[in-house]
Amino acid sequence: MKHNFGAGPCILPKEVFQQASEAVIDFNNTGLSILEISHRSKEFEAVIDEATQLVRELLSVPQGYSILFLQGGASLQFAMAPLNLLPEGGKAAYLDTGVWATKALKEAKKFGTVDVVASSIDKNYSYIPKGYAIPTDAAYFHYTANNTIYGTEVFDKPETALPVVVDMSSDIFSREINVADYDLIYAGAQKNMGPAGVTLVIVKDDILGKSGRVLPSMLDYQLHINGGSMYNTPPVYSIFVSMLNLRWLKAKGGVSVLEQENIIKARALYDEIDRNPLFKGTAAVEDRSRMNVTFVMDTPELEAEFLALAKERNLIGIKGHRSVGGFRASIYNALPLSSVNALIDAMKEFEDTHT
Ligand code: PMP
Repeated sequence: MKHNFGAGPCILPKEVFQQASEAVIDFNNTGLSILEISHRSKEFEAVIDEATQLVRELLSVPQGYSILFLQGGASLQFAMAPLNLLPEGGKAAYLDTGVWATKALKEAKKFGTVDVVASSIDKNYSYIPKGYAIPTDAAYFHYTANNTIYGTEVFDKPETALPVVVDMSSDIFSREINVADYDLIYAGAQKNMGPAGVTLVIVKDDILGKSGRVLPSMLDYQLHINGGSMYNTPPVYSIFVSMLNLRWLKAKGGVSVLEQENIIKARALYDEIDRNPLFKGTAAVEDRSRMNVTFVMDTPELEAEFLALAKERNLIGIKGHRSVGGFRASIYNALPLSSVNALIDAMKEFEDTHT
């Protein structure tokens, strides 16, 4: 059995893969594959309705928010957010916590002024800046909730009266959130929601229509809302598999149950990193992510040796991102505690043979 610690696309539950594969051959006893049915068929309408309902239920999305399934990844949201929310000549405030935050603010700069309220670039993004001031005259405040590359996570909503835009690509559905704290939430699906190819957007309806910009249709949230995410052909299969995964999440007991499991998994792994003299965590302890656990060793030679052991033990995808080095264990919802324990066992074994 492989233990998949990949950062994304990543592990999803085995039963989701099973159901997804069956539907490719015969979808709901229709005698047709999910890949060949019309997105306008009543069968697919039932899928997208259920997916929408599951998002609404699992995150307790209040009235006044729309749920969209779009294409273009979280990366397209880096541009869509400013295009829809930032008036010509307007200003937006961004928190810089790494590559994804930087990419987001670079897009916004194409459409207005960006005020970077704080950055943790001075320590290679190993912490979340605190105590920064957010200007009151900006159109919105943007931040990245979980920094997939650096293993840092923002758990509390930053204090501001501005509309808040948040990239939750790598921690959506991993912990309870109060959607009403946010005005625009976006997340590429390929971590905790489903396969790559679809992006979840949860947007507060009344923040839209104020930028005064003429937008290409495909970049206009309002048109996607009006069309029920079917302004054009949606990514049918990615939405279907996401729906299966959200069903799985609900059957597990919902986000609060997963959050407890994620806390236990993360604690076990961080405890071993802190205990084992050969390994060192890279993220500031108070900002440690529950989804992506980053750690290093003293020398590249030792790291290469541990990677080889990991491979032998079927621990897949733990090589760190090149900008941090070392290791990154992504421990998303579908990764069981037994896989985390298999990694911990390998770390202990490595200690026994190297000290
Ligand atoms: N934001 C975060 C936090 C991410 O982790 C990623 C991808 N790993 C992205 C944005 C970019 O997502 P996409 O590839 O879906 O555009």
